[in-house]
Amino acid sequence: MTDITDLGVAAIRDGIAAGTFSAVEVAEAFNANVAAAQDALNAFIVATPDHAIAAAKAIDARRAAGEALGPMGGVPIGMKDLFATTGVQTTAASHILEGFVPQYESTVSQKLWDAGAGLLGKLNLDQFAMGSSNESSHFGSVVSPWRRPGSNAPLTAGGSSGGSSAAIAARLVPAATGTDTGGSIRQPAAYTGTTGIKPTYGRCSRWGVVAYASSLDQAGAMARDVTDCAIMLESMAGFDPKDATSLNLPVPDWTAALSGDLKGKKVGIPKEYRVEGMPAEIEAIWEQGIAWLKDAGAEVVEVSLPHTQYALATYYIIAPAEASSNLARYDGVRYGLRDLPDGAGLQDMYAATRADGFGAEVKRRILIGTYVLSAGFYDAYYTKAQKVRALISQDFAKAFEQVDVLLTPTAPSAAFALGESNEDPIAMYLNDVFTVPASLAGLPAMSVPAGLDAQGLPLGLQIIGRPLDEQGVLNAGLAIEGRAAFAAKPETWW
Ligand code: GLN
Repeated sequence: MTDITDLGVAAIRDGIAAGTFSAVEVAEAFNANVAAAQDALNAFIVATPDHAIAAAKAIDARRAAGEALGPMGGVPIGMKDLFATTGVQTTAASHILEGFVPQYESTVSQKLWDAGAGLLGKLNLDQFAMGSSNESSHFGSVVSPWRRPGSNAPLTAGGSSGGSSAAIAARLVPAATGTDTGGSIRQPAAYTGTTGIKPTYGRCSRWGVVAYASSLDQAGAMARDVTDCAIMLESMAGFDPKDATSLNLPVPDWTAALSGDLKGKKVGIPKEYRVEGMPAEIEAIWEQGIAWLKDAGAEVVEVSLPHTQYALATYYIIAPAEASSNLARYDGVRYGLRDLPDGAGLQDMYAATRADGFGAEVKRRILIGTYVLSAGFYDAYYTKAQKVRALISQDFAKAFEQVDVLLTPTAPSAAFALGESNEDPIAMYLNDVFTVPASLAGLPAMSVPAGLDAQGLPLGLQIIGRPLDEQGVLNAGLAIEGRAAFAAKPETWW
């Protein structure tokens, strides 16, 4: 029999339902992999083997009693440490929230437990989800299970959901939650040969998710394949009165309607995504993706998104602006860390706690955000950025009058080595060049593994869909998945 930890969500759920193995056996197998990899990969901030076993026992008992097990019945998962989990430390990979144990459960995680999933642990990420490489985590960088041939140089698993992507690729979890503000599900998925979908803004509740940039933050599913992502996303999505931006719409049965047959569909290739200096291998995988979608029956046409060139600049005004406001709540009074120097007053406590509790990248964003929101510069930066954001959205709306989905590379390169790009924050921001536009427009988008580069590292393709058309995105993803037949897996060196 294949190793249980090589199985995905659907196979685990169905195997438990059929009695091929028990939920406890599954949890034990993944718990063992989590423990064995922790020192080398640092994918988890906290492992929760007991939670996984307890959930598994409950599923096995339900099966013995002949009860329904749920769409995620017996599937143990990893939870990005941005989701509040009752009784389990939730840090956003920050020092300021170190030791914070929520008394409540995020809506998304609660929905997953209700669907039968169990918790293997809280996954590492960039601090407050700010970053593209996981190097801003207070708990140290995640190390990708992938390596360049003949080299031990540790590579990034992407960010900010790098713990999630590394854990899936290394078979520590069959699936994990991610969040995506400007690309944090899609880029780590691309770097690790895994699959990740960010749904339409508002599909998943943000309640109980540590806020970064509220008008952009969106939870999503990360797993080995498109079907597993669809199953998991169905369990996560849905209206929540506790989130004012939650969409009050039914969650479609995406899994049932999955089809890689794209006859009658039109796929747009945005010409502005052919950015200068794009490596030939990225260009080539994109061409290959176009050929695959044609083979699946789609008509492929070129479209124009003329304001794409302003997307990164716009994002790096809006996201820090919202972050500076959201992070004002961490002041040493209500959550986590409190630094109270002898004889200090309230202001001193705020200053000491925040100076000590936030990492460099988080401070940089708070400073930029405070600046662009300041009275003298608000119109020049923030208001202007919001106007450009509207133009970017309109570009997509026009393109979607012509086509059903868009196909682009997910990231402008394969995974880089840790330490290779973190000197220059602007160079790091460029990683988001293909993912940020869909985030600004609130559109559903996913990354699917498409192949390996010359160094044997995974490359991903991105599909962007119309608002609420997760189905179209998943189906195009399935068409690529079937043709790419990506089966590469990192060697176990840890
Ligand atoms: N890399 C982007 C940033 O640093 C996106 C992060 C995210 O999507 N959370 O903001």
